[in-house]
Amino acid sequence: MQITLLGTGTSSGVPMIGCTCAVCRSVDFRDKRLRSSVHLAVDGRSIVIDTGPDFRQQMLRLSLERLDAVVFTHEHKDHTAGLDEVRAFNFRQQEEIPIYARGRVLNQLRNEFAYVFADKKYPGVPSIRTHEINNEPFEIAGVRIIPIEVMHHRLPVFGFRVHNFTYLTDLNYISDAELEKVYGTQVLVLDALQRNDHISHFTLEQAVALVERIRPELTFFTHISHKMGLHHEVEKELPHNIRLGYDGLQLSL
Ligand SMILES: [Zn+2]
Ligand SMILES: [Zn+2]
Ligand SMILES: [Zn+2]
Repeated sequence: MQITLLGTGTSSGVPMIGCTCAVCRSVDFRDKRLRSSVHLAVDGRSIVIDTGPDFRQQMLRLSLERLDAVVFTHEHKDHTAGLDEVRAFNFRQQEEIPIYARGRVLNQLRNEFAYVFADKKYPGVPSIRTHEINNEPFEIAGVRIIPIEVMHHRLPVFGFRVHNFTYLTDLNYISDAELEKVYGTQVLVLDALQRNDHISHFTLEQAVALVERIRPELTFFTHISHKMGLHHEVEKELPHNIRLGYDGLQLSL
């Protein structure tokens, strides 16, 4: 399996429009964070988790030629706004792109992209096949995906485990029962927004505490705000097996 972090930024991205803080002015490429998303090349399949507003740019950076499926964590715009761009893969592949999400998220996508789901579609709009998922393992063309239900303030959100990789973004709570599904994972990508408390995301300190319970070999934090600080300075404070993610980071597992 090859994992690529396509984006590691919070909803506004880093730099944030109009901000002149040290992080937003940094010239370090690791301080430039597109909205959070990940690509998995696994068992011969090409799968993306979430299509945020930067999806097109992320696909171009990765030079991705084929997309087999999209899986959604939740319906927030920073995870869904780029869905229209899957039409590039419709044109290339001459087929529908399957998307996997819980019913609530599919309903929201049907509202926000009504033209995609219209009975009479305008030529060239995305062609999508929906698959409703629940909190049960499912398969995408033979790839087994285990949803992990976490809480994002009061919104239930799915993280996903694929083999020994687990992706958990947009959360500030996970139950002991759901945590059982994460144990034994080798590589974890985990939400860590900033240092200060937040209503719907883990802080740096909370995320480190959760990693110490899960004990994966390697952890990368994601969904990072400009308020977190400069990438190279924050990394110095972290234990050796915990790092901040950055856009374009690739791992083989
Ligand atoms: Zn988000
Ligand atoms: Zn800033
Ligand atoms: Zn969210």
